[in-house]
Order: sequence, then structure tokens, then C-alpha cells
Amino acid sequence: MSATSNKLNCPKCGGEFESKTVAEDIAVEQCNKCYGLFVPAGMTRKLLANWGPDTMVDTGSDTLGKKYDKVDDINCPKCAVKMDKIEDHTQPHIWIESCPVCSATFFDAGELTDLKEKTLSDWFKRFIKGKRE
Ligand SMILES: [Zn+2]
Ligand SMILES: [Zn+2]
Repeated sequence: MSATSNKLNCPKCGGEFESKTVAEDIAVEQCNKCYGLFVPAGMTRKLLANWGPDTMVDTGSDTLGKKYDKVDDINCPKCAVKMDKIEDHTQPHIWIESCPVCSATFFDAGELTDLKEKTLSDWFKRFIKGKRE
């Protein structure tokens, strides 16, 4: 609650984001309560390229992710605007929130691993192409 804190708060559960370094040049914010991931624009592609079972961050349990997944209509913690929902057609149970202003994305705990196991890289190429290229 301190006004001097520049930490972002999780739009899903109100927890605090902590900066995590995945690899060189790759930093994401992870909620210390629900383990949701806030990934800045431009970082998602890098993150996916480096994502693996050992990549640490996606430590949330499925149960936890599903619980908070029910919270929708979240605001971007940076821009305070409502984030857009993006659905993966091949996996309709997964919704990813994306900020229309800063293009950051929010993943629920477990979602990134879930997606990566399937065809996330292909899917995300399509998505990123539409948004940024
Ligand atoms: Zn959270
Ligand atoms: Zn934003």
C-alpha cells in the first residue's frame, strides 16, 4: 500500500508482481499470490523461444490457475485499461488477456506451460504478426 512502491499489483488477485529474469534480456513480472505472469510487449516471443519445463516461472498449480481464471475483465496493471481476451482456437479453455494499449499479455498460472506443450509457438506467431508486423 505504500505510495513509494513502484511494484505493480496483480489485476486478478491483488497480489504483488515480482520481476523474474528468465534468461538474458528476458524479464517478466510474476504475481506472488496466484503466480499469474505479466509479460511486457515484445517479450512474449522471446519468452516462448526460451520456455521449457525448467524455465522456473510457471510454478502455479493447475488448481490455482483455474480458480483465478474465473476472474475476468481484468485491467492492465500498467495502463489501467481493460485488457482484451484472446482465445486459442485449438484450445478453447485457454484465454489470454492482452492490453490494447501496451500490448502486454497476462497468463494465468500454468497457461504458458499448457500452451507451449501444444502449438503455442505457431499460434503466437499468428497473433504477434497481426498485432505488430
Ligand atoms: Zn495474482
Ligand atoms: Zn497496458
